[in-house]
Amino acid sequence: MSTRWITTVSEMKAFTAEARPRAKSLALVPTMGALHEGHLSLVRRAKIQCDVIVVSIFVNPAQFGPAEDLARYPRSPEKDLELLRPLDVDVVFAPSNSEIYPPGFATFLDPGQIATVFEGAIRPGHFRGVATVVLKLSNIVRPDVAFFGQKDFQQVVVIRRLVKDLNLPVQIAVCPIVREADGLAKSSRNVYVKAEDRKAALVLSYSLKRAEEMVHAGEADAHKVLEEMRKTFDAEPRAQLDYATIVNPATLEPIDRVFPGSVALLAARLGRVRVLDNLIFGPQDSTPERNLQLAFPDQASGDGG
Ligand code: AMP
Repeated sequence: MSTRWITTVSEMKAFTAEARPRAKSLALVPTMGALHEGHLSLVRRAKIQCDVIVVSIFVNPAQFGPAEDLARYPRSPEKDLELLRPLDVDVVFAPSNSEIYPPGFATFLDPGQIATVFEGAIRPGHFRGVATVVLKLSNIVRPDVAFFGQKDFQQVVVIRRLVKDLNLPVQIAVCPIVREADGLAKSSRNVYVKAEDRKAALVLSYSLKRAEEMVHAGEADAHKVLEEMRKTFDAEPRAQLDYATIVNPATLEPIDRVFPGSVALLAARLGRVRVLDNLIFGPQDSTPERNLQLAFPDQASGDGG
């Protein structure tokens, strides 16, 4: 089978109409391209659960602020296709901006309070853009299951809220964070981390590891765990902490006591590059998949929930 490269909404809708009757389960993996192992892990998971796979590649201008890096965002369509080829997906949907936002486009979603904290506070309007494009992609592709990465934890919470609030007929499957060998969470933006900052970038995964060790050793006071995480950051002057918090995964409200399924969220800057990471707390012998289950108990394991 060869992968179809579709760039128009009408052709994408025609594909769905044709594929739906024969598909047991249709998957959508939304991405902004510049693909790496993190994205590919979502595609592999989709292939286990679903028999028709659509990967979208769309650098969504609506989720970038005016002072942000939309023009500089990495784009590598040929390499993306190369990486996807062995995975044998059915469709790569790569629409232009004007396909998604044609002249006269005016309707945006407001994802409410959870979109105003953390990333939403630093990037006003970001989740409005995310929610709007996810709803549009979902209406165009009509997937049974859509796959997202835990890496963007707040995004997952916003999208799960959107699906629930608007009764969208799609399951949301969340996949664990894929990391570089040294622990740095993979991200398309990592290419912009300067060589001299690359080591400093490890402070994120290191401080999360420290937090996990403390909790496994019996510390449940979230404030004490956070204090230790901040101390780790203080020791790395090349990284500026944007926020460190431990929250309830359902509400994103900061908590006082760590519990299984609660999550530490981190964001920092290395020069001009923003990097995010997070960790779900779970029992000592747990796995990232099981910890995801603790954070999102309604996500059935293995079938997207
Ligand atoms: P992006 O292209 O950055 O918008 O990411 C597309 C999807 O891939 C999102 O659901 C991300 O959360 C997910 N993703 C990005 N990086 C990773 C990673 N390191 N591990 C797992 N999923 C990831």
